[in-house]
Formats: sequence, C-alpha cells, structure tokens
Amino acid sequence: MHARNDTARSCGRPSLCSPAALLGLARASLERESGSALAILAVAPDGFSRLRDSIGYERAARLLDCIAERLLQCAPQLAIARVGEHEFVLLVPLRERVHDLDALWHELRALLALPYGVETGEVCLQFCAGVARIGLEELAAGDGLDAAGAALHHAQKTGPGQYSVFRAGILREARARVELEHELRLALARRELQVHFQPVMHTRSAKLRGAEALVRWKHASLGWVPPARFVPVAEECGLIHELGEFVLGQVLAWRARWRTRTDTLARAEISFNVSARQLDDDRFVEALERARAQGLLEGPPLWMELTETALVADGPAARARLLRIRGMGLRLALDDLGMGYSSLLQLRDLPFDALKIDRMLTAGVGTEPLETRLFGAICALARSIPLCVVAEGIETHAQLEVLRREGVACAQGYLWSPALPAADFQHWNEQRARSSA
Ligand code: C2E
Ligand code: MG
Ligand code: MG
Repeated sequence: MHARNDTARSCGRPSLCSPAALLGLARASLERESGSALAILAVAPDGFSRLRDSIGYERAARLLDCIAERLLQCAPQLAIARVGEHEFVLLVPLRERVHDLDALWHELRALLALPYGVETGEVCLQFCAGVARIGLEELAAGDGLDAAGAALHHAQKTGPGQYSVFRAGILREARARVELEHELRLALARRELQVHFQPVMHTRSAKLRGAEALVRWKHASLGWVPPARFVPVAEECGLIHELGEFVLGQVLAWRARWRTRTDTLARAEISFNVSARQLDDDRFVEALERARAQGLLEGPPLWMELTETALVADGPAARARLLRIRGMGLRLALDDLGMGYSSLLQLRDLPFDALKIDRMLTAGVGTEPLETRLFGAICALARSIPLCVVAEGIETHAQLEVLRREGVACAQGYLWSPALPAADFQHWNEQRARSSA
C-alpha cells in the first residue's frame, strides 16, 4: 500500500465547522424536514497520544489535518467538527436505521486506514468510532455530541479498531463513571478510603501467616463501593497512583506498628495489590525506594500481588520494574491465576515467588470432581516450578481438606475471616491466640 499524496506536510487546513455550528445545522435540518433523522458519528485514531509523543506536536497536528481532509472527502456527511484534541464528529443523514451507518463506517475506515506520510516516513492508523441517532429531543437535552462520544469511548474500551452503536445505557454508564471518578478524587483528598486486612493462614498448622491488604471505600450516600467497581475507574483516570500510594502508606504504617508487638503479628507477612497501571512509570518504584530509605521495608517479608492481566500490557518495562522491586527485598505473587491469559508465559518470564489461586477456581474444590482435579493440576504445576501456593476464597472444611492433601501452603477465606479494619484484625488475632492457648 502506498501513502496517499496527502502527506502531513502537504495537507492544507481543511474546513471543519465548530461543534456548536454542527449542532445548529442538525437542529435546522431536523426542523426543516419533520420525520427526518440524523446521526452523529464520532471517530478517533487509536493510540494517538503515544504517536504524538513519538512524532512531535507539529507533525501530529498536520496528521490530524490530513485525517480531517479524508473525512471531508466522504460523501454523505453534512458537517464535520473537531472535538477535544483528536476526535472528529460527523453529522450524517440517516435513511432508515442506525445500522445503515455500518456500511458508511466500513468505507470510511478503509479510507482512513491508508498510510499517511509524515516527514519521518509513513504511519498507519487504526480508528474507533461510535454512532448515535439524534432527534430534536436529544438536541434539546444537550445530548447530541455526548451520546456519540460515549459510544466512541465504549468502542475504545473494547479495543483498537472497534465500532459501537449508542444505546441509552452507555451514556448512563459513562456519566456514572465520571461521577464515580469525581467522588473517588474527593475521597482520596479527604482520606476517606480505608485499608482492611484479610488473614492469610498456614493450612497445616492453622497459624497466621499474615494478611492481604484490601482497599475499602465507604461513600456517604452510595455505601460500600466494591473495589471491583472503583479500582478500574482509578486505573482509567490515573488516580490509581494516588490510591496505590495511599494503600502502600497504610500497609507500611500498620506493619511498623505490628513489628513492635510480641504476638504473631510481629512476624506477619503482609501483602498488597498493585495494578498494571502503577507499573507504567517509575512513581511506584520510587515510593518503595523512599520507604526502603526510611527502613520501612525491613522485617518480615512484604508481598506485592499482581494480576496476570495486569502484566500483559507492558512486558519488558514492567519486568524491569518488577526486578527492581524484587531487588529491594519484596516478594511477588501472581494474583488471580486462571482469570486472565498468557499466565504460563508470565510464570516463565517473571520472577514470582507465589501463586494465588482465584476463588473462582477454588469454589467447587472438595465437592465438584472436575474442579477438584483441575485444582490439583494447578497445584502440581506450581510445585514443579516451584512456587508457594495461596488458595483464595476458602469457605469450607471440605475445601481445606483438599488444600492439605495437595500440599497447598497457605489460604485465605471466610472460613477464617473476611477482610477487617486493622484494629479488628488485631483483635481477631488476639482472640484466636487466646482460644487456641
Ligand atoms: P483479590 O486481590 O483477588 O482479593 C481477593 C478478593 O476476594 C477480595 O475481594 C476479598 O474480599 C475476596 N474474598 C476473600 N475471601 C473470600 C471468600 O472466602 N469468599 C468470597 N466470596 N470472597 C472472598 P475485594 O476486596 O472485593 O477485592 C476485589 C479485587 O479488587 C481484589 O482481588 C484486587 O484485585 C482488587 N483490589 C483490592 N484492593 C486493592 C488495592 O489496594 N489495589 C489494587 N490495585 N487492587 C485492589
Ligand atoms: Mg490480591
Ligand atoms: Mg486474588
């Protein structure tokens, strides 16, 4: 394929209109022809920020002009506007159904996928798109652009080159997410998040090995918000760095306190969870280095848990940071084994000390023959590497029996305790020690 002759150098400034003018045109058109329908197609190149970092702002700006030029060539649009840094919105007449736009999108996508000439060579881009039908009602509600934008962002979350048709739920979800992001920002600033600790037990001796730190958020009106809901939001908007440093700060503070005690808490091995996004740059490693300089990493082993899906994102750089972290004496656990992908390669390539088996894989252990055999096979795999195994979600004695039989060293679950506020965890441990004395 050859670059079209619209190199980023030769493109003139294409004539786009403003988003307000596009909406004005839409209103005029809908009022003129009652019963007519329009759609807004929002289009954006994938990974543009990264490309801009590599080719520079000026070339990136000219590249966007070329994209606009190609969009303007496409036949049926009534107007095109640029929104935000690198999103375009096209106003298109809708003949019958939104699905008519599938064909238009395929045509557009092929045109946009042709190489672009930049001074340093050629670049190929992939695009995501979102489409929404608009009528006078949506325009009156101010939803015209938001709906298409929400469909675009939904497509982008699905993956590169995706296309998504707006449904009412998308905008609702997008707004709820923005709201949650705002609330989370406030909660972090007001230090409303907490860290709870779930005991991790030695299966043979039934003694405490340590605890997993799990972040908790009690919102004034929403109540307890599960981490599965707000951690992905924090990852998406970058708040995960603050959240992670908060959790690390709490873990280190409690650990330092517990080290001065005379009971099993003094030797407790504490683990905390880290998202892939926290390994995107050096911030987290630097926070750990500061902690080391203050002597806060000394004492019983400190564990860092990573989900396998977290690791696939950024292979070599993540690996280098993990090695630095391990060099500081931390131990690494692969969390949620079996819930992501390429886990076996990660076991080969990354320096893990332990494997945590997700509760989805321990739920039927001891009662469901197939699940029990599958669990046994995973344990055999871990033994062959060899890695310490921690089984999660243990709720019954039947499960515990199988763990002991399979030589699984550690476990956590409601059989012992859910995650508790630090003071309650301390109390729980004291009571256990008293009752087993
Ligand atoms: P995870 O690290 O695999 O944590 C284990 C989850 O299983 C926790 O859910 C825990 O409360 C739950 N659990 C433990 N034992 C049992 C049991 O016996 N039965 C049942 N039904 N559930 C049990 P939680 O606290 O909702 O956390 C969900 C996930 O959120 C965590 O999965 C972890 O991936 C993430 N997460 C939690 N805290 C943090 C954090 O500080 N940072 C990051 N990046 N992620 C976190
Ligand atoms: Mg975990
Ligand atoms: Mg887990």
